[in-house]
Amino acid sequence: MIQTAALLMIVVSYVISEDYCYTEPHCDPYAWGDMFPSCHPLLEEHHSPINLDHHMARNESLYSLHLEGFDVIQAGHWTLENDGHSVILHVSGGMSVSGGGLPDVYHTIQLHFHWGGPATNGSEHTIDDRRYPMEMHIVNMKSIHPNVTTALGDPTGLAVLGFFIDVVYAENVHFGHISQKLSSVAYKGQTTKVKPFPLMSLLPKHNMSQYFRYYGSLTTPPCSQAVIWTLYQVPIYISWSQLAQFTSQIFSTEEDAEQVTPLQNNFRHIHPTFSRTVSMSKDAKWLSGAAGHIHRSAGSLLPLIIIILGVFISRL
Ligand SMILES: [Zn+2]
Repeated sequence: MIQTAALLMIVVSYVISEDYCYTEPHCDPYAWGDMFPSCHPLLEEHHSPINLDHHMARNESLYSLHLEGFDVIQAGHWTLENDGHSVILHVSGGMSVSGGGLPDVYHTIQLHFHWGGPATNGSEHTIDDRRYPMEMHIVNMKSIHPNVTTALGDPTGLAVLGFFIDVVYAENVHFGHISQKLSSVAYKGQTTKVKPFPLMSLLPKHNMSQYFRYYGSLTTPPCSQAVIWTLYQVPIYISWSQLAQFTSQIFSTEEDAEQVTPLQNNFRHIHPTFSRTVSMSKDAKWLSGAAGHIHRSAGSLLPLIIIILGVFISRL
C-alpha cells in the first residue's frame, strides 16, 4: 500500500514536472495555461485560491472533521522534499480525514507550504483581500481512487485542509519538527528523512470546528478542479525566524546551478468565485478584519511613512 502510494507520487510528480514557476513572466501563474490548458480559467470554472469575504452562508451541518491517526506517532519515516516549487512533507500511511461534509474517507498523502518574501506575505487564500504570511496545505485523496491521477478526474477526488500561518515572537516547538530540517532541503531535488510526529501538534487543536468550505482546484499545475477545500479560520503561529527560514533559505534552483534563485512568493493569484457557494461551518465566526495580525508588507507601510515624514518635515 505504502509502496504503491510512493510509486504513484513519483508518477504524479513526473506528470506535473514540466516546469512551471511563480516569478518569471514566461512560466508564472498567468502563463501556466500555455503549458497546462486546464490552468487557463474559463468563465464559471472553479479555480483556487479565492478571496474569503463576508458573502458566506452558514451551514449548520458542518461539524469538525474526523482526523484519524493525526494524534499518534505513525510508524516508518516521512520524507521532506524541495521540489523547486514548495517544501513537501510526504507522510506514510495511517492517517485519513472524513466527516465535516466530506462525501468519503480521504487518505492523507502529503503536506506542503506556500509563502511570500522577506517583506511580503504569501498565503494563497486571502481574507477580506488580506494575505497571511504563509499557508499550509494537507492533501488527502479519496479512498476509492487507486492513484492521484484518477482522483484528479473526480470533482471531489481530493480534500485539502488549508491552514493560515501567522507570525509571533515565540518559537513554535512543534513546527520545529519541520523548520529544523529545512537546511537539508535548501535546494531543488534535495530530500531528507523526518521522524514522524503527531500531525495534530501542528494544528490549532481547540478551534478545529471553525472553518470555511468551498469546491475548487489544485493551485498548482495541472490546476484540476478536483478539490474540496476546508480552510481553517484560526491560524497556526510560528516565529519570525521560522518564517525567515522559508522566505530566505529555500531555493528553486539546484545546488550546482550557476545562478541560485530563492524560492519566494510561491502562491497562485486569486480567482473569482462565480456562482459557487462558500460556506462557514457551524462554529465559524466571521470577524471583520480577522486577518488583522498580518504583518504589513513594505509596500503597504510606505504611504504611512511618507505621511509621517511629510508631517515631520512640515513642522521643521
Ligand atoms: Zn498548496
